[in-house]
Amino acid sequence: LIAVATVKEEVKMKGSDIQAKQKKYSLQSWSAQKNTAPIPVEKAEGMYFWDFEGNRYSDMSSQLVNLNIGFGNKAVNQAIKDQVDQYCFLSPAYAAESRANLAEKVISVMPDNISKVFFTNGGSDANENAVKIARMFSGKFKVFSRYRSYHGSSFGAGNLTGEPRRYALEPGAPGFIKFFDPYIYREAIEFTSEADATAYYLTKLKEQIIYEGANNVAAIVLETITGSNGVIIPPAGYLPGVRAICDEFGILMICDEVMTGWGRTGKIFGFENFDVKPDIITFAKGVTCGYVPIGGVAVSKEIADYFDDNYLSCGLTYSGHPLACAAGLATINFYQEAKILDNVNAVGKVLAETLEKLKEKHACVGDVRYIGLFSAIELVKSKESKEALVPYGKDPEGVMPKILGMLKAKKFMTYFHENMLIVAPPLIITAAQLTEEMEKMDEVLTQVDQTFL
Ligand code: PLP
Repeated sequence: LIAVATVKEEVKMKGSDIQAKQKKYSLQSWSAQKNTAPIPVEKAEGMYFWDFEGNRYSDMSSQLVNLNIGFGNKAVNQAIKDQVDQYCFLSPAYAAESRANLAEKVISVMPDNISKVFFTNGGSDANENAVKIARMFSGKFKVFSRYRSYHGSSFGAGNLTGEPRRYALEPGAPGFIKFFDPYIYREAIEFTSEADATAYYLTKLKEQIIYEGANNVAAIVLETITGSNGVIIPPAGYLPGVRAICDEFGILMICDEVMTGWGRTGKIFGFENFDVKPDIITFAKGVTCGYVPIGGVAVSKEIADYFDDNYLSCGLTYSGHPLACAAGLATINFYQEAKILDNVNAVGKVLAETLEKLKEKHACVGDVRYIGLFSAIELVKSKESKEALVPYGKDPEGVMPKILGMLKAKKFMTYFHENMLIVAPPLIITAAQLTEEMEKMDEVLTQVDQTFL
């Protein structure tokens, strides 16, 4: 017994040592360093991971809405190993088989107006390069993006980002203009219909473009469905309306599919839910699920052809990294062979029904928003007044971290944004697994009702 206890103690020490070392020598993202407690992970499989004490956790936000295929996908692991054996790296100036194959594959799943892709290292630099391409192609410089948006944290992408995470790089670069999202739940105006709301937001956008000087506007950049700022799903006519405004004024429509791409919403890309074709599409995350990082900017034939004779002033040492391309090809093949969209739509239906029930049952749930396996639960003090459980930008009592703690105690792992809990499990989750996890959420929302209202 003493021996067993000692082994357990040693295992525990290993986990806490790793955590302590990581904290000692590396800076943790988006945090006051004192408050961080990265969970040491010993092993991971599918939608689960285990700490060094054998506790199993459920990955209910797919490691930053990224790990669509879950941990340990054998086909993707094998493709990476095979590429390692051929070569790990080849500069973008050389032709690499995995790079050529991934480019062809990506274009094969894009809308028919899209003809070429420029590979990047991730989502932020995909958006930066999209803006550069739009500026070079159009000769115009202003770029519109929305307040409730996250497009990345590097300097260029950070200028597109509209929420407070952009403050650290202000004063920003000139020419980045912000407008408001169609966040109907919290709009001061009571709309009588979705069409009414759509008309309102589009009229405001058009007015703003005219005041900025339509001839100066190169592009409008939008998360097709606003992701980390709370899964804000636009009304049906909104994106087609933005497309029409872009066409009217000769503005490029750039859809940021970094979070919504690769099956998350039940279609390969989020914009397919709204029947629009962007001029430029940026992606990252789910294309390889981070097995090896990569992103990309896919452009229309018109834009691609423009650069036949005009200099493309974009380049990254790791653009189209062979390992990432091998992983990407295997990932997309997996999505297709596993018929992942069918699973997202089937399990997404269960998620939708469950969320509606939670909204009905719990006083603390003001709104639920969902599409495919992408959802947010917006917590309020009162359904009637819609007063947020924590006011915007302020949570001095640490209410939201306490709620995450309640979920973590049940081994349900996710993250929050302001007063919203995100539920976005790997796309391989089964209906039974989802139901089991959402029962834990139900119990925690009961605790929230009892503790914080
Ligand atoms: N765009 C969107 C919509 C995102 O959600 C993110 C990251 O979460 C990014 C861009 C930035 O991507 P990365 O973190 O890979 O640079």
